Amino acid sequence: MVLGTAVSDKKIGYLSHSDCGRHDTGWGHPEHVGRLRAIPRALRYDAELFHLLDHREARHASVDEIALAHDARYVDMVRELAEQGGARLDADTVVSEGSWAAASAGAGATLDALDLSFGDGPRRSFCAVRPPGHHALYDAGMGFCLFGNVAIGAHYARARHGVERVLIADWDVHHGNGTQALVQDTADIRFVSMHQWPWYPGTGASSDRGTHRNVWNVPMEAGLAREVYVGAFLSAVDDATVGFTPDLIIVSAGFDSLAGDPLGGFTLEMDDVETLTREMVSRAEQWCGGRLVSSLEGGYAPDRLGEACVVHMRGLISG
Ligand SMILES: [Zn+2]
Repeated sequence: MVLGTAVSDKKIGYLSHSDCGRHDTGWGHPEHVGRLRAIPRALRYDAELFHLLDHREARHASVDEIALAHDARYVDMVRELAEQGGARLDADTVVSEGSWAAASAGAGATLDALDLSFGDGPRRSFCAVRPPGHHALYDAGMGFCLFGNVAIGAHYARARHGVERVLIADWDVHHGNGTQALVQDTADIRFVSMHQWPWYPGTGASSDRGTHRNVWNVPMEAGLAREVYVGAFLSAVDDATVGFTPDLIIVSAGFDSLAGDPLGGFTLEMDDVETLTREMVSRAEQWCGGRLVSSLEGGYAPDRLGEACVVHMRGLISG
C-alpha cells in the first residue's frame, strides 16, 4: 500500500467545474444541468462527508490531451461548433455555446484526479461532471456524450504517469460503447461494462470481447433482482483481472442503473451503490495502492442521482 500524506489519506477528491453547467441541452432533455445541481444539494445533508472532501475546481483538458483518445479534427470541430453558437450532432447529442468549456472541464477533471492520485493528493476521487462520456466515439459524439472522459483518463495515466495496466469498470445502465472503442486497441487497458440488454445503444454482446479480448461485456435483462446485477458485475471484474493486476481503476459511475431511472430498467438501490463502491475500493487497495478515479456518467432522476453520488463518495472513503 502506498501512503500519501496524512491529510490526503483521510480525504477523497471531489472534482467539479462550474463550466459543466454551461453545456445547455435545454430542460426538456434528460441530461440537463439540474443533474449536477442535485449533488451539492444532497451533500448539504451530510456535513461529515463534506468535511472529508477535498473539493477542487477542475482544469480544462487541452485539445492535445483530449486527442489522446479522439481524432484531433473532431476535438477541434466541437470547439469550433461551440464558438459558432452550437449545433446538434445527433438526435440526442447537442453542442451548445458552453459545451466546449463544459466537456473540456469534464475531461480535465479526470486528468486532475489522476494527477492527484499519482501525486500527493487523494488517491481516490469522484468527478461530478457533464456531459457524460462513455458513448463518445473516436471522431463523433453520441448518446449525450462529447468526449470519452474515462478513456482519455486511461490513456493519459499511461502516457503521463507511467501506468501500464488500467481497469475501467462501467456500471451505467447503457453499454459503454465509446469507451470500448477508445480503449480496446490497447491490450493493457481492460474494460468491463454491465448494461441493460437489449437497450440503447444496441452494442455490448457478451461475445464482443474487443480487439485483444480485453473487453468483458455483461448484458443483463431489465427488472432482475438487485443482487443479480451486483454479483454479475463483480464476477466480471474478477474474471477481467485473472493474471492482470491493475495499476489503476477508473470507474464509469452511471447512476441510471438505479431503480426508477427514466432511461433504464435496472433495480439497484443505494445499498448496492455502496456495495459496488466498497468492493471496487477494496480491490484497488489490494491491487494498486487504493488508486481509483470515478467519473459521473448517466443518472436521470436528479434527486436519486444526488443521493447516489453521496453514497458513492462515502464508499470511496472506505478502505
Ligand atoms: Zn447511461
